[in-house]
Amino acid sequence: MNEKLVLEKIKNSENAAFAFLEQLVNLDSADDAKGGIADVCHSIGDFAAALGFCVEYITTPDQPTQVLCHRPNAGKKKVMFIGHADTVFPKGTVAKRPFKIVGDKAYGPGVADMKGGLVTALFTIKGLLEAGWDESEFTFLICGDEELSHPHTNAVENFKKYALGQDVCFCMEPGRENGAVVTGRKGAARPLIKVKGIASHAGTAPEKGISANLELAYKIIELHKLNNKTTGTTFNVGVMKGGFMANIISDYAECEIDIRVKTIAEAEKAIKDVQRIVETSYVPGTSSTVEANKISFMPFETTPQVKSLYNLMKKEAKLLGQEELKETYSGGCSDVAWTAMVGTTSLCACGPKGFGAHTEEEYFYTASLVERMQLLAMTIMHLQQI
Ligand SMILES: [Zn+2]
Repeated sequence: MNEKLVLEKIKNSENAAFAFLEQLVNLDSADDAKGGIADVCHSIGDFAAALGFCVEYITTPDQPTQVLCHRPNAGKKKVMFIGHADTVFPKGTVAKRPFKIVGDKAYGPGVADMKGGLVTALFTIKGLLEAGWDESEFTFLICGDEELSHPHTNAVENFKKYALGQDVCFCMEPGRENGAVVTGRKGAARPLIKVKGIASHAGTAPEKGISANLELAYKIIELHKLNNKTTGTTFNVGVMKGGFMANIISDYAECEIDIRVKTIAEAEKAIKDVQRIVETSYVPGTSSTVEANKISFMPFETTPQVKSLYNLMKKEAKLLGQEELKETYSGGCSDVAWTAMVGTTSLCACGPKGFGAHTEEEYFYTASLVERMQLLAMTIMHLQQI
């Protein structure tokens, strides 16, 4: 197989890739613009169909569209790409600051997170196929509600379902500003604890009251004791509320906790610890319940398989004369959690190298679009090495 031809095809597609990117970026596609999310999915679906993919739109009325593009090739390495069509920028953002290239950077809402990544995946596949590469089976699954952690759709189930049995998965979140890919991510949970006490006038009948606020204060101290530098597990009570007047003993208090863990074992331990603290009454007479005491994002563990895929990619970057491909660990979550969870060797942040996701300054380095496509193509062509 002529690797040079693949690299050339990709290089020659640069203008077309930026034109397609401009089209995607200039579609508002936040949660308040579900039509825009559908338009992004359909643009990608049409593109993939022209490359011989079977394209399926996964829809529920009034909810963000998902698109599944699949190009069967029995017996060949199964390569999956995943991404999201939604951005965090509300309707009207495109009118204010549409796609633009200034100097060596591309700007616009969602340009790095992650429309640049979506275009990278598509044009990597296009370059490979146009050069005659026939040794991969490709799957590309894009959801429409990643930025809100999938409140509207069955995207999580789909990521798990379609990742099962794949050889590798590339999550197209933006590469870090130094080009690093992400080889591990923390998992997260966000339980809500509710405490009940007994209200009473703080001046005339303080002995009749039982303070939910005091109970919550004890619980918060216990929760913060669970922070563990060795394991990397973090607990943060980011929101607390309780009572409504200074002269009334509070009969209700609640707090919302952000928990981050590096391993599934730590996740299970954290859930049990929260349950124990909920069931303990530090102030006799109070009672407590907990909601959402479960992992909302599984940790993406840095397994030996993840390391070997990263090492292959690093080697290919060197052979291409690119800067050294770095790896990084992130406390933030992404959908790579689900593909890794079902045992598929995954890497995250495979999109062009960018910065400022979720801000007006968001950009990526234009040169990194072709670089990433060439790097992914070469990695895909040498998957038999891992
Ligand atoms: Zn993203």
